[in-house]
Amino acid sequence: MKDFAVVGSGVGGSSIAAYLSHKGYEVALFEKEPYLGGCSSTFSKKGYHYNTGATTLAGYQEGHLVKEFLDELGIKPDVKVCDPSIVIVQNNTSVPRYTDLEQFLQALQSLHPHPKNREFWSLVHRLGKEFYAQRGYAYSNRSFFAKLRSLVSYIPLFGRFYRYLFCDARSFIVDFFGDISDEYLDFLDAQILIVAQAKTPDINFFTAALSLGYTFNENHYVMGGFDSLFELLGAKVKEVHKNRTIDNIQRKNGFYILKSGDKEFKAKNVILNSTIYESEQYFEDAEIKTYYKKYKKLKNTQSSFMVYMTIKSDADFYHHYQLIQKESIQDTLSKAVFVSFSDKEDEKIAPKGHYSITASIHTDALFWKNKQSYKEQKERLHKRLSATICETLCIDQEQIVESFAATPNTFKRYINRSQLGGNPITMKNFLPKLPSNDTPIQGLYHVGDSVYAAQGWPGVMMGVNNLKGLLHV
Ligand SMILES: Cc1cc2nc3c(=O)[nH]c(=O)nc-3n(C[C@H](O)[C@H](O)[C@H](O)COP(=O)(O)OP(=O)(O)OC[C@H]3O[C@@H](n4cnc5c(N)ncnc54)[C@H](O)[C@@H]3O)c2cc1C
Repeated sequence: MKDFAVVGSGVGGSSIAAYLSHKGYEVALFEKEPYLGGCSSTFSKKGYHYNTGATTLAGYQEGHLVKEFLDELGIKPDVKVCDPSIVIVQNNTSVPRYTDLEQFLQALQSLHPHPKNREFWSLVHRLGKEFYAQRGYAYSNRSFFAKLRSLVSYIPLFGRFYRYLFCDARSFIVDFFGDISDEYLDFLDAQILIVAQAKTPDINFFTAALSLGYTFNENHYVMGGFDSLFELLGAKVKEVHKNRTIDNIQRKNGFYILKSGDKEFKAKNVILNSTIYESEQYFEDAEIKTYYKKYKKLKNTQSSFMVYMTIKSDADFYHHYQLIQKESIQDTLSKAVFVSFSDKEDEKIAPKGHYSITASIHTDALFWKNKQSYKEQKERLHKRLSATICETLCIDQEQIVESFAATPNTFKRYINRSQLGGNPITMKNFLPKLPSNDTPIQGLYHVGDSVYAAQGWPGVMMGVNNLKGLLHV
């Protein structure tokens, strides 16, 4: 019997499985796919490799959780700093998001000069720095007292940032600048959406500031694709079951039985890395089902449409671009496409003289439900995004070696979820309404971007850190 069974090898599942193994626990990690990483994995098609979704490793710097976590496990990923973190292209003008505030402010002048810029971006810069220096808070909502204890642990954070927590970001920004152009708002909105997974009217200014400020922190490119980092995490776990879907979980007296096809596995504790919305399906136990039903209402259908390309080119590209268009793009929820290039020297992910490209745009999973129009919609959006990428970044059609697209349905087929980007912390959906990493059910836990704290490497890692505390390990 294992101490822990971890179902799913996304950022959350792989990290907590590696940590518990490092601490001497008997752990089994189960992954449906032949590779680890979920939204942050790397896959191959026709001999070329692509990062599935995530392409930037944020939080891998001194004083930040991702670095602290990997250091403790003795994991040293092969990474390169991306500076600028992203290059934003709007209206034929490029604004590199340099990590240095002064350098960025200077670059911003060419696109959105404004007398309030220095004051605004200094505030964004300061809030991020102060937030990441805060520690000592923990979140559990398994009982009334756990909620109360959590709220008490958040008092220092609330005390420091309360002015920015209870006002919606859109109103705050409009009031702050006095007169802000629609284009400048688009510039801010596009950057906030890719981090917060929500738009400015729905989130508080504090969340918006952290989203705008994440590019002031070090962002890293992972050589060989994110897969290389997951292999290092997976190597810490004695028992990794790839190609193994868990279909059903039964609670017994003091332990769980996990079923996969005709195989059974026993564990004292279960940590699910499946989303909080999808997890009810594994159980027949009425108490557990009731617990999951409570969170059904949080489910949103936000997702991603992807374009993957391999191009042959000797040109130099930055690692990441965000291309902001004038109008929203059909079948999406956004005006902006995020485009990531492999490193020129990374021959593990693309052959010499080639680049592997992963591009994404927010969409709604419900847009892709009509079987009659699905193929046509997919081709149309694939063509539209490819054209935008090629025109903006000066890539000729002849340079494209491979190009294909993926919809929310593709994500569902491969990694068992079509809702992507997690559970945004919004004005309506705030602590203590968010699901925590523990549950009221003895021995049943969660990690990942649909539970505390939020999405992406830094957000999911905050949840992993929180779970470590709740498990007292
Ligand atoms: C397009 C896109 C771009 C992104 N870009 C970035 C970025 O640049 N930087 C960043 O930090 N973040 C980025 N993110 C967010 C980040 O990728 C996610 O928040 C994070 O990877 C989610 O991790 P997770 O722990 O929730 O697990 P998930 O990624 O959801 O993985 C869950 C895993 O569980 C497996 N699984 C599910 N059910 C079962 C079962 N029954 N049995 C066995 N296995 C199962 C799945 O196959 C999957 O591998 C991006 C996300 C997307 C979609």
